[in-house]
Amino acid sequence: MFEPRYYKNFGLEEIARKVADGQRLTVAEGEKLFACPDLNAVGSLAHQARTRLHGNEAYYVVNRHINYSNICVNGCRFCAFSRKKGDPLSFELSEEEILDKIRTNGNDLTEIHVVGGCHPEKPLSFFEHLIGKIRELKPHAFIKAFTAVEIAHFAKNEGIPVGDVLARLKAAGVMMMPGGGAEVFSDRVRKLLCPEKLEAAGWLDVMRQAHAIGIRSNATMLYGHIETPRERVEHMAALRELQDRTGGFVCFIPLTFQPSNTPMGKMEPTTGVDDLKTIAVSRLMLDNIAHIKAYWVMMSVKLAQAALYYGADDFDGTVVEEKIGHMAGAESQQGMTRREIEAIIREAGFQPVERDSLFRKAGHFPSNGDCKVD
Ligand code: SF4
Repeated sequence: MFEPRYYKNFGLEEIARKVADGQRLTVAEGEKLFACPDLNAVGSLAHQARTRLHGNEAYYVVNRHINYSNICVNGCRFCAFSRKKGDPLSFELSEEEILDKIRTNGNDLTEIHVVGGCHPEKPLSFFEHLIGKIRELKPHAFIKAFTAVEIAHFAKNEGIPVGDVLARLKAAGVMMMPGGGAEVFSDRVRKLLCPEKLEAAGWLDVMRQAHAIGIRSNATMLYGHIETPRERVEHMAALRELQDRTGGFVCFIPLTFQPSNTPMGKMEPTTGVDDLKTIAVSRLMLDNIAHIKAYWVMMSVKLAQAALYYGADDFDGTVVEEKIGHMAGAESQQGMTRREIEAIIREAGFQPVERDSLFRKAGHFPSNGDCKVD
C-alpha cells in the first residue's frame, strides 16, 4: 500500500479508499484499474485485499489431473486440445486406463480433477460408473469433475434436464466441479470464437443448479485473445452477481490464452504485466469469492510466484500430468512435488498451506469428504 497521494497520480484515490474500506468496486472502476499504466499501483491494492483475507498464507493442493478424452463435438478456435473422432491425435481412455493412472499415485492425493472434451458418444452411465470406481479406489479424495460445458453436453446427449445429470453425478460421487468452459461471457466474443459452445447464460445456469444441490465449483476466465478489458470486468461482475445468490464459487482462476497450435496461432501471447494485472483486478472485483488462483501450468511457475504479491493466494497443485495447456504450448513442467511447491512458495516469502478442494487446511480434511454448501 502506497501513500494516498500516490494513487492520486493515476486517478485511483477513490478506488484506494473503497479497497481500504472493503467496499465493492463498480465495472467502470474495474476498467479504470485495467487502464492504469502503473502495475504496482493496482497490485498494491490487490495485495492489500489479499492480505486482509489470507494474511501471509499461500495455498496448494496435492492433486492429479485426468483428461479422459480430447474428442469434442465443438470446435472452439482457442482450443489446441480437442480433436474430432478418428484424428490421429485424438485419444480416449478406458475406465481401466484411467484407474491405472490414479493407482500410480500415492495414497496422499486429496483431489482428483477429471475433465475432457464433449464426446459425441460416451453415455452418462460411463461417467457415473467411472466416478463410482474412482470413489472406491480413493475414498478420501475429493472428486472434482466435469465443467458446466460437459454437464450441459451430457444433458443434451441423454435428452434429460441438467438438474438430473447433476443429481446422478453427485450420487455417483462428484463432489465439486471445476470452473472451465466459462471463457469470456461476452456474446460478441463467443459468437466469433466458440459459437457451438454452451452460451454464457447456460454456463451460469448450470453452476446455479449445481450450487443449489450442494456441488460447489470454481470459475475461470480465458483472457488474452480478442476480448476487451471491459468484457473481462463484465465477466467478473456476472460471476460476482451469481456468487451473491449462491455462495457456491470457491476459487476464481484467470487462464492465460495460449495461442500455439490453435487456429489463432499468429496472435501474440499475453505479457507478464497483463497476467499480473488481471490477477490483481480479479482480486479487487471479486470481493465475494475467497480465493484467486495463480495457475502455474498456464502462467509459468515464475510468474505465479510473483502473482502471490498481486492478489493471488493459491498456487494450484501437483497436477502430475496436464494436457490442455501443454497441447497449446504451455512451457511449464507437467507436475510438481509437494516439496517443490512448498519451496517455491516459501522463497516468495509466503507460508505454504496444504488445502483440500474446499480450501480446508491439512489436518482438517473431513474423512467423509463432505462438501455441502454452508
Ligand atoms: S475448449 Fe472445450 S468445448 Fe471447446 S473445443 Fe476445446 S474441449 Fe471442446
